Amino acid sequence: MTIFHPLFPRRQPDASPTDARVLNWAKNTTLAEASAVTVPETEAQLQAVIVNCRGKIRIMGSRMSPGRMLAVSNPDDVLVDLSRMRGVLAVDDDSVTFAGSTPMHEVYEVLTSMNRMLNASPGVIASQTLAGALSTGTHGQGLQQSAIADDALNIRFVDGNGHLHNMDRSHPWFGAVQLGLGTLGAITAVTLRTRPSALYTCFKDAVSADTLAEDLAQWNQTWTFSKAWWFLEENKVHTWNAREANEEERSAWEQNHGDLVTLDDTRDEMNQAVDKTLQHMRNDTRIVDENGKPFRTVTRFKDFSDVIGDVYQVFCRGIATPQINIEIGVPLANAPAAIARIKAWYAKTHPHMHYPIILRCTGPSDAWLSPSWQTPTCYFGFVVYYAEDGSLSEEGLEFLRAVEPLLAEEGGKPHWGKYFDPRLYDWSACYPQWSAFQEVRQAFDPRGIFLNDFLAEVMS
Ligand SMILES: Cc1cc2nc3c(=O)[nH]c(=O)nc-3n(C[C@H](O)[C@H](O)[C@H](O)COP(=O)(O)OP(=O)(O)OC[C@H]3O[C@@H](n4cnc5c(N)ncnc54)[C@H](O)[C@@H]3O)c2cc1C
Repeated sequence: MTIFHPLFPRRQPDASPTDARVLNWAKNTTLAEASAVTVPETEAQLQAVIVNCRGKIRIMGSRMSPGRMLAVSNPDDVLVDLSRMRGVLAVDDDSVTFAGSTPMHEVYEVLTSMNRMLNASPGVIASQTLAGALSTGTHGQGLQQSAIADDALNIRFVDGNGHLHNMDRSHPWFGAVQLGLGTLGAITAVTLRTRPSALYTCFKDAVSADTLAEDLAQWNQTWTFSKAWWFLEENKVHTWNAREANEEERSAWEQNHGDLVTLDDTRDEMNQAVDKTLQHMRNDTRIVDENGKPFRTVTRFKDFSDVIGDVYQVFCRGIATPQINIEIGVPLANAPAAIARIKAWYAKTHPHMHYPIILRCTGPSDAWLSPSWQTPTCYFGFVVYYAEDGSLSEEGLEFLRAVEPLLAEEGGKPHWGKYFDPRLYDWSACYPQWSAFQEVRQAFDPRGIFLNDFLAEVMS
């Protein structure tokens, strides 16, 4: 049975206690009947599940990606929950091995307690699992780093034949396994390269978007980490640019008992733009609570001030709220053209702005199916929050439908763990390693058991 998945599904009403379905995190897609879920506790049990499966298998992490990545629908299909396999497995001087389903916040807490960090900066939230983050190319910001998958030194997984592999960076197929979309096997452990912890001072600013193309390149070349929110309607950009903290800043953090230091000088240059965005968000979501979660994602830009903290305290501060999120990675060299196209399109059509455009750049990735494979990349992020009744603002969605093709035409490739329209991409043209990836996939999963309907279509 083939299930049709709409691109932007409505949220489903809260399940009743007798509801026997499993939904994704956004609750907009049914992943499986509860009876299809299996929870192995050991690699041996996982191997048995895979060997004995007569249908399809998908492996779920925190289920934060669009449901079509994870959904299975036939009676013999299995949805594997590896949440019992989490935590630290091994530690040495330069690396820590975690079970694949360890949530990222636990990875960061453990590393922080050891005075260590990853080279990869964190995403906005840390409720993803390590394996889920790896498998979709989850990333943060800064040209001197890339995806979390780029900090993996060794990946342990059970393939579609039930065989266990321990693969390190010297293996010629490592680049496939780093970001495998859950189509090569079930990841049970990941060894992450670590480095000594550092502190950062993040300088926040509000600038005109007139020179955004030049500024974006300069911020990213100058600062260790850089992130920006582009308010098109106000032609303004809010920036967070961070460098390593100096001695005085470090001691301010220590005196604050290791908590994030918020410096006293507040600036109100973003307040008007934030109020306008809040008005749109309120109209679009019809959420009445002034402090509603989606609103807090933008009110924090009001009266902004510089901060000092570790990379997780500074950047991993998102508020996870049900949303449609699209993120398209454009080669950094094409970012000025992409910005010019968005500006021209905005000037001509004045589309509705539900939320500012989020701009984050990363350095090249080794993962074959990363949008940043061997290329510094600028990611353009878009968010539309769900309304209280589970609907989505039609104008917000119109924006997404119009902007994704513009970026695809500039060489953009979608984040695999977010929403995208697969009809816009010729995968083998997007990814030079596409056919090599298919060969690896066929070797590890000759029965195609890891391909649900959506992935079978993408991989065909
Ligand atoms: C609110 C929100 C904020 C986000 N912020 C960011 C961000 O800042 N930066 C960013 O890059 N992305 C971000 N994302 C995207 C998110 O990181 C991805 O969707 C990620 O895959 C979610 O991890 P998960 O554990 O929920 O994986 P799931 O959604 O459960 O699974 C995703 C994929 O990983 C595979 N997988 C999961 N576990 C395993 C395993 N053990 N073995 C093999 N395959 C496995 C699944 O089969 C599936 O293909 C955000 C998403 C949301 C909803």
